[in-house]
Amino acid sequence: MAHTRDARSTISVIIVAGACGIAAGTPLALLGAIGRSAREGAIVKGGRYLEVLATVDTVVLDKTGTLTFGTPEVVCVHPVDGLGEDELVAAAAIAERRSEHPLGKAIVRNAELRGVTAVEPHSFAYAPGLGIRATIGSREILVGNRALLAGRGLTAGASASEHHEAATEVLVAEDGRYLGALAVRDTLRPEAREAIGALHALGIRTVLLTGDAGSTATVVARELGVDEVEAELLPEEKLARVEALVAAGRRVAMVGDVARESADVVLLGNDLLKLVETLRIARKTRRIIYENFIGTISVDTIGIVLAAFGFLNPLLAAFIHVASELTFILNSTRMLPSPRR
Ligand code: ADP
Ligand code: MG
Repeated sequence: MAHTRDARSTISVIIVAGACGIAAGTPLALLGAIGRSAREGAIVKGGRYLEVLATVDTVVLDKTGTLTFGTPEVVCVHPVDGLGEDELVAAAAIAERRSEHPLGKAIVRNAELRGVTAVEPHSFAYAPGLGIRATIGSREILVGNRALLAGRGLTAGASASEHHEAATEVLVAEDGRYLGALAVRDTLRPEAREAIGALHALGIRTVLLTGDAGSTATVVARELGVDEVEAELLPEEKLARVEALVAAGRRVAMVGDVARESADVVLLGNDLLKLVETLRIARKTRRIIYENFIGTISVDTIGIVLAAFGFLNPLLAAFIHVASELTFILNSTRMLPSPRR
């Protein structure tokens, strides 16, 4: 008799322990989460990436196109004495003719609005994070920031952005002579403030890395409540800053076109609210998988204890197995996207 009971208990424990909420629930939760994220516009390539997203504690943002629309406008023109506004804009627009940079496009648009013709430059060189050097005939035009001009031993006049908070000053020089500055201002995305607040509510730190001038970056960061800001960074310096954060043990997600390669996860597109939602989904998925894991261990433990006291028979074991597995699956279905409203 004793042997029979042992055998029955053993079989029962195996049946209960087969209740693997991990095996049943995990793929379902991940599938649901990936589907949900896709609906938010975030392509998550697999469960491993969701796990990484769930642990993100730092979000690095760039300014242009991410916190702002990336379609700035020239708001002010400051030529040096003796030079007309149109002449200054014309010189800048020649250099920016072939520029893909939002600042360049703003300047070319402004020239068009003024009816100023900007001819093609003969040569054109773009220094990332600094600006442009172009030549037309024997004329050499420089358009960019203070660092670009300083590299040629030129100093600009008073800051054009002093008159315009949150505007970027673009300096213009021709043949070694400073011609003046343009103030170019971008519009903040209306959802950016809310998204930054939501990230902070999740306990995530926000860091703004930008090539723009410190004064402009500070105004934007203050306006939106961004935690940390570093300005006047060249593209490779942005990369170094992100790598330093990762090396310091921070789990970094980056939004925008800041040095993509160095982050753990990169989200395409620049809707910050979608990023927030994707982070929430990843965290919820991790919680559900953890619940299923703990649940499975608990059910198995209870099964073993019941069997030890002789309370477990194969039928009850089968019932516990099916009931618990169903519970874990239902728990995981909470991740499945709800039908579209
Ligand atoms: P962001 O972090 O805003 O993307 P970028 O690295 O693109 O910054 O540019 C940094 C700075 O370099 C700009 O704020 C501007 O001063 C200067 N700059 C870059 N490209 C241009 C350009 N085409 N014309 C004028 N200035 C430029
Ligand atoms: Mg840029």
